[in-house]
Amino acid sequence: MSKKNFTPSFTTAALHADRKDKPEHGVLHKAIHTSVAFGYDDARELAAVFQGKKSGYAYGRQSNPTVEALARKVTQMEQGVSSVCFATGMAAIGSSLIALLRAGDHIVSSSFLFGNTNSLFATLQTFGIGVTFVDATAAANVAAAIQPNTRLVFVETIANPVTQICDLEGIGKLCAERKLVYFVDNTMTSPWLFVPKAVGASLVINALTKYIGGHGNALGGCVTDTGLYDWRGFGNIYDNYKNVDPTLWGITQIRKKGLRDFGAALAPESAHHLSVGADTLGLRMDKSCANAQAVAEFCSKHPKVSKVFYPGLPTHPQHARAKALFKNFGALMSIELIDGVDCFDFLNALELVVCSSNLGDTRTLGIPVAHTIYWEMGAQRRASMGVGDSMVRLSIGIEDTADLLADFTHALA
Ligand SMILES: *Cc1c(COP(=O)(O)O)cnc(C)c1O
Repeated sequence: MSKKNFTPSFTTAALHADRKDKPEHGVLHKAIHTSVAFGYDDARELAAVFQGKKSGYAYGRQSNPTVEALARKVTQMEQGVSSVCFATGMAAIGSSLIALLRAGDHIVSSSFLFGNTNSLFATLQTFGIGVTFVDATAAANVAAAIQPNTRLVFVETIANPVTQICDLEGIGKLCAERKLVYFVDNTMTSPWLFVPKAVGASLVINALTKYIGGHGNALGGCVTDTGLYDWRGFGNIYDNYKNVDPTLWGITQIRKKGLRDFGAALAPESAHHLSVGADTLGLRMDKSCANAQAVAEFCSKHPKVSKVFYPGLPTHPQHARAKALFKNFGALMSIELIDGVDCFDFLNALELVVCSSNLGDTRTLGIPVAHTIYWEMGAQRRASMGVGDSMVRLSIGIEDTADLLADFTHALA
């Protein structure tokens, strides 16, 4: 698989996306349309919009022009065919899965998973959807977990917080062979570093809250259909959503059922913030990745740091895979401190790094994971995910590199 699977004109295309839509007054940003309802002079036209015979807007929970402009921008970045935005990344994952799955279905999931997705999968199990967690760094483990009722395989690109990288290519081939939906959470890499379509993904999730929005000022999520999956082989599509090209059956059901039933629509104001942020995704990620590499190399040589988990280090178990698949190694890392160095004291000694739970912000953020975001899941599951008690997760931002290194030098001294 070629490494350069990103679109060469990525940033240019993002910057000019809204303008291409010939917006009112030649504005360069799609306007923030706050209207919930849309009026029609011809009642027949409204009926046609409702029946999916004509494109148009009917009610703000189902679609909005500002939100659609953002969805098109993400579709372009992911080289997909269609996207649906949601209020948060979790809303995108939860609404998509519930729109597509039924009781009695089964999912195979990577066990190295964002904590809230892990929590969602526990909830799905109480509603009769089976979930088998496997070490997805080897596709053979996924293959061994497939059952006759398996519908979907769910993985993340770089797992949080230990940065494991699944066998994205091998699982893609497996899903194609077994006609399974391949659902990839691309949040940690973003379409700037990796386009999951290149390894056969069917659906791609991006928490827009993180790198795509990038500034920690708006929540949002998006699911993109890559166009690779033939939904005629997926038994759960309702007849109502089969009046379009079969490539679009899945995303149509997600748009209709996902947004209608759960109502987690993205607000137009948030869509505007996220869209402005998306313009500079490539520039921000390049800087964050360069900073992350510098911090990881610094920490890996520091006597008070016992472990560094970062795909950009040659010692990382999937370093070669990351190098082959991604444009860079990401901006998320975790470190463990030697015995006797307290992770709370370390975080408190950092002056620049903000002690905070978000990631993918322009500012560098750090958090003691075992005691916060992974607290509720318990010690056993934490251990199975490789989360140690002194682990600090770092989401590296775009600060000037020397300032960051000075902050770490001082805090570890
Ligand atoms: C943050 C995150 C999500 C959820 O996004 P929200 O907008 O916070 O709901 C999903 N997946 C990954 C990998 C994330 O980091």
